Amino acid sequence: MASLDYAHRRLVNALGPERVARGELERMVYSHDFASLPKAALLQWQLYPDFVVLPQTTEEVAAVVRLSDETGLPITPRGSGTGTAGGSVPNRGGVLVDLRKMNRVLAFDADDRKVTVEAGATWEAVAAHLATRGFVLPVEPVSAPSSTIGGGISNGAVGFGAYRRGSLRDMVLDLEVVLPDGRVVHTASPGEAGRAFADLTPLFFGAEGTLGIVTKATLRVDPKPEEARAAAYAFPDDASATSFVVGIVDAGVAVHHATFLDRDHFVFERALTADTPDPAPIVLASLRGPKDEVLEQEKTLDGLAGPRKGTKLAADVAARQWARRFTVYGARRLSRGLVVSANLVPTGRLGEAVAEARGLIERLRLNGAVQASLLSPTTASLAPYVLMDETVPSGGTALGFVKKMGDAAIEMGGHPMGLGLLLVFNLERMHGRAARSLGAVKEVFDPGRKINGGKTVELWTKFTVPILNSVPPSVMGFGLELAAFLRRIKPTKDRFVAAYERERGA
Ligand SMILES: Cc1cc2nc3c(=O)[nH]c(=O)nc-3n(C[C@H](O)[C@H](O)[C@H](O)COP(=O)(O)OP(=O)(O)OC[C@H]3O[C@@H](n4cnc5c(N)ncnc54)[C@H](O)[C@@H]3O)c2cc1C
Repeated sequence: MASLDYAHRRLVNALGPERVARGELERMVYSHDFASLPKAALLQWQLYPDFVVLPQTTEEVAAVVRLSDETGLPITPRGSGTGTAGGSVPNRGGVLVDLRKMNRVLAFDADDRKVTVEAGATWEAVAAHLATRGFVLPVEPVSAPSSTIGGGISNGAVGFGAYRRGSLRDMVLDLEVVLPDGRVVHTASPGEAGRAFADLTPLFFGAEGTLGIVTKATLRVDPKPEEARAAAYAFPDDASATSFVVGIVDAGVAVHHATFLDRDHFVFERALTADTPDPAPIVLASLRGPKDEVLEQEKTLDGLAGPRKGTKLAADVAARQWARRFTVYGARRLSRGLVVSANLVPTGRLGEAVAEARGLIERLRLNGAVQASLLSPTTASLAPYVLMDETVPSGGTALGFVKKMGDAAIEMGGHPMGLGLLLVFNLERMHGRAARSLGAVKEVFDPGRKINGGKTVELWTKFTVPILNSVPPSVMGFGLELAAFLRRIKPTKDRFVAAYERERGA
């Protein structure tokens, strides 16, 4: 491997000095994503990159990738670092490629209803661009204000609108990708608008940056709907609320979106923002489409809520909650960290999944809340979160929750979302025999393991000597089991909830 000073000179030659950083502070900032990793993780991985680079063009990305052959430094692509499994942090240092300077909207075609953007643009910025032209993104992740188009595609993101418009994967018409050998390819033919034939696009969706670096994406867009409104219903308990959500599916109502948020979510929210609805299990629905259809849908929802003792919240309250839909993890401000466990579960088992998440929060004596959203008639997302204090050594034990919740999702016929560094032990349980084929695909695209090597399909440590260079994924799983065990010993149950209720004299 070349010396770091040599690598620095070569990177500066390619990008200029202002877009290559190697200072302690920059390296530290990029040493974690939204998953709060305990300091002990540094014993296992070199989470700090040696260099952070900020390319502005596809050619610069390709130059950085090719340089890796010369310097031997591994590459970690990164959007906004909002992923929750450690995917966008290095495991062996190297060059971290922050794509956020590649954030332009390159082309918009109203007739063909598509937009071409650079991978580092945020979903929110693209949506704002489209709004001025009377168009919307069919699907957007909750992290839209900060997460990038390339990060969302690479992480297999799900989001608002999926229930009505289909998965985000179906929105992606074509990608420009820099492959690990430095070649630039398009994943689909520009002429194949109907997408009836095989193309390479789905390979990169959810590949977590292991097969190449996405530099541009062409996405399907929708005209702005004639009517868009929100409706919200409070329920006496979780079971009635989740039965209402499943009832939406059974009644065949094509809502734009429906999210269940439990009582504790609103307890946290209320502590932060006064004009929050009274804490209760609440279902927030978004309805979009022709005016008559939307009004009809709202009537059907009212009819479904009644027998389940649901109370409709005022229209302005529903509208306000919908406007706040991108800030569902605000409770992080109450603690000093927050851990999200993102999972997919069968829609028919939503009630059970929510009860399991709630039970787990109680059993591990954590403070947390449960959220779940409809993604399709068969699949719902289940994304409970727990509060933690990442400044204290015991804080990291909250990660045990992610392990246990993922196990429960798999048992229910679903699975966790994202493998990254933290959750690689789920690969075989999620994909069975196909796990080996996924490893083979990595081998074809990236035999030298240059880009995100040792993640997702295998688990490397920071060491390069044989035996110490990798961890059997099951050992990682065991470590998180241990964290869950320790969690029970040091309870923080009701710390924030109790403080809130004491304040109100409840
Ligand atoms: C508040 C919040 C809300 C969230 N809501 C959702 C949600 O609704 N739905 C959902 O699915 N997830 C959600 N997540 C998880 C996360 O935001 C998404 O996975 C998001 O799409 C990641 O985008 P990013 O730009 O932050 O990517 P990063 O976290 O930076 O990277 C994610 C992975 O993709 C790789 N990568 C990034 N950019 C590229 C690229 N251009 N080419 C190749 N590989 C790349 C990285 O190496 C990493 O493995 C949420 C997270 C938070 C914190």
